Amino acid sequence: MVIETEMNVLAGGVSWVDLNFLDRPHAIATAVIRGAGSVALIDPGPSTCLDTLELGLESRGLRFDDVTHLLLTHIHLDHAGATGTIVRRHPHVKVFVHEKGAPHVLDPSKLVASASRLYGDQMDRLWGVIEAVPHDHLIVLSGGEQVDAGGRTFEVAYTPGHASHHVSYFDRSSGVAFVGDTAGVCVDGGYVLPPTPPPDIDVELWHGSVARLERWAPQTLFLTHFGPVDNPHPHLQALIDNLETMSGIVRRRLAEPGPDEEKATRFAEDVTRELRRQMNEPQVASYLAAAPPELLWLGLARYWKKKTG
Ligand SMILES: [Zn+2]
Repeated sequence: MVIETEMNVLAGGVSWVDLNFLDRPHAIATAVIRGAGSVALIDPGPSTCLDTLELGLESRGLRFDDVTHLLLTHIHLDHAGATGTIVRRHPHVKVFVHEKGAPHVLDPSKLVASASRLYGDQMDRLWGVIEAVPHDHLIVLSGGEQVDAGGRTFEVAYTPGHASHHVSYFDRSSGVAFVGDTAGVCVDGGYVLPPTPPPDIDVELWHGSVARLERWAPQTLFLTHFGPVDNPHPHLQALIDNLETMSGIVRRRLAEPGPDEEKATRFAEDVTRELRRQMNEPQVASYLAAAPPELLWLGLARYWKKKTG
């Protein structure tokens, strides 16, 4: 039992590693799927966490050389920043990615430029090296297919809303759906926070993606931020409720007079206060590392400005 807890086991052959992002536990998780002759990682995380990921593999008796597939839910740097570095060091690894994300792993320059506008001089501290993935390593997805990796078959669904190139993976044999950011951020069963950073938040598409996850009827949702959720339906309902609340607040405040920067600061303070009301300080720190509240405002503000022209 102790060993299972340390190994973070979800099901036979399915476990996860806490990447301890920025020395914070419960901020970013990588799922490890092992089966006959194949090891798959879902969302390998940023390259600043590669040493931690390697230690996590070693504690399972695995090495990076055993990894055959990387399944990306989407290409944001906290989920997939290390992809190119892993592939260059281990040239037999194949990478699954949605067709809208593929151009940006082949050439990350636009992705890096866009992230640099958000994170400024923190880019290197947060994400480290970001390398291109050579073309012949990519397996491009559009959603609706089945893919074999980690000794099992995953169903793939296109789940936009958080990102326009987001997919989710369902392992029907274990009942676990690996949903990236589509089911929000939830640390230790606390507040279900919709991560809404720029540039392509779409609240309506997000609703459709949640309905798509419900149709799988998974026993467990696996969130990159952070870990397994064993009661998918109430969790997804809370996500939708909180997305509607946050989105409504941003819409109303955008219509009020005053500079956007002040509104963003006030919104971030409100979100942080709500998290502190419900959780202890280390837990709040994990949320803030996974979903900085100023960025949540920016993503929703961009959505409403685009929508209302
Ligand atoms: Zn993301």
